[in-house]
Amino acid sequence: MRVAVGILGGTFDPIHRGHLEAAASVADQLGLSTILLVPTGDPWQKTTHASREDRLAMTSLAAAESDVFTVSRVDIDRPGPTYTLDTLRDLREQYSEAELFFIVGADALAGLPSWRSPELLAEMATFVGVTRPGERFIDPDIAGLQVVRVDVPAVDVSSTQIRSRVAEGEPIDDLVPESVADYISSHRLYRESE
Ligand code: NAP
Repeated sequence: MRVAVGILGGTFDPIHRGHLEAAASVADQLGLSTILLVPTGDPWQKTTHASREDRLAMTSLAAAESDVFTVSRVDIDRPGPTYTLDTLRDLREQYSEAELFFIVGADALAGLPSWRSPELLAEMATFVGVTRPGERFIDPDIAGLQVVRVDVPAVDVSSTQIRSRVAEGEPIDDLVPESVADYISSHRLYRESE
């Protein structure tokens, strides 16, 4: 039987409804049995605001929303900067029989040529470009890369917007699962303006 596993990597600082609904929609449309949510360790192209353990904890709380989600620690546990090449190597070992689908948003897909060893990435997984209404889908010019476009509903939320709402003392209840909102509040995350 074909086992198809989706992978959504992210800084998840914090994870939000946009991530979860896009991933669930991809699982539905492509018939994926599992979506691995993979928080990055040190995302070398971004600054993080919450620790890796806090980002992992929020991801685990969010994953409890649906049976399709599983959290993977591969990037959190690997020291040094997070490269998707290592993520896919580690997951290929754990899911040796599965077909792997690496899910990215339109901005991330456009930036793929700047990632480490894009031609090797192309051999390790099919890339899924989630495209929101009004977004341009750009298939990056990488030899051998297989990209599937999946249109997903718009969920107008970003991690940056959530952090600034928390810093301003505004509610975030519609933007993240309740358990994640409670975690952010009880651990006093994102209180400082950026
Ligand atoms: P992120 O900001 O937490 O976002 C995770 C994913 O969710 C991104 O693909 C993002 O696409 C998408 N997304 C965000 N908001 C969304 C919404 N409202 N609706 C639907 N989708 C939404 O994570 P990130 O920092 O971009 O990292 C993504 C992955 O790329 C990670 O696994 C990271 O390790 C990897 N990466 C690897 C390298 C490398 O290997 N050299 C370099 C950079 C990133 P958009 O960004 O398009 O919104």
